[in-house]
Amino acid sequence: MKNKTVIITGGASGIGKAAAELFAEAGANVVISDIDSIQGDEVIREIRSGGGIASFFKTDVAKPEQMEALVQYALDTYGKLDIAVNNAGIGGEQNTITDMSLEGWQKIISVNLSSVFYGMKYQIAAMLKSGGGSVVNISSILGAVGFAGSAGYSAAKHGIIGLTQTAALEYSAQNIRINAVGPGFIDTPLLNAMDAAMKNQLIAMHPIGRLGKSREVAELIFWLGSEKSSFVTGSYYPIDGGYLSK
Ligand code: NAD
Repeated sequence: MKNKTVIITGGASGIGKAAAELFAEAGANVVISDIDSIQGDEVIREIRSGGGIASFFKTDVAKPEQMEALVQYALDTYGKLDIAVNNAGIGGEQNTITDMSLEGWQKIISVNLSSVFYGMKYQIAAMLKSGGGSVVNISSILGAVGFAGSAGYSAAKHGIIGLTQTAALEYSAQNIRINAVGPGFIDTPLLNAMDAAMKNQLIAMHPIGRLGKSREVAELIFWLGSEKSSFVTGSYYPIDGGYLSK
């Protein structure tokens, strides 16, 4: 990963932070983007103190002009963009469809789905200029099946898979691979709103008998970002402790 530049959105916490650490350990130039600059700066400090190369750029992924500025920042700082991980996301409003607010629907679609379109629009444009790259979009198992109370989240995560497949059809011949990762429930701050009983219910949905760890998902993201997965494009990889086997 030496001299490779990677952008990771939502890199200040959870899965994104674990991916940032993994790419930094492998010698990449890591651009962490997040809406939370306090946590983002903290992750940068940790990576740099371990000898890694990392910078933080504050971004709201729901704002296309900020996603364009993020890519420009990576190009200005490190010269090119090789890998992009579109990971930032929220849990969003938990309600059945009839009770879901219109604002709740619009918010989850813009933060969890439109953001991936904005990201790819500018990331792929930069990669085309430098001759190739790899984009990893973070979907969910809820990109493959529904989940009562999470219509917006599930719709957004299904949408990411459609965007990923379409991007692969459009750009694979130009040496840009685009793939999606579908984590089961992972023990990150995203689940902080859940009480112990709810977490136990989630654990029971995973045949492996526990929630996933951020680092486990980061390993798959890293592999898809790296040349080790050079024949893989347009694919959706569940990483879910068996959740989808039910
Ligand atoms: P997390 O809450 O630990 O991290 C998400 C990060 O995204 C945070 O640092 C947050 O500040 C950032 N973020 C939120 N809104 C943003 C915005 N508008 N602009 C920029 N940054 C923003 O969550 P996580 O569990 O690590 O989730 C990472 C991704 O994995 C998300 O896309 C999530 O949907 C997906 N995912 C998580 C799970 C899980 O169980 N944790 C399961 C499947 C998929």
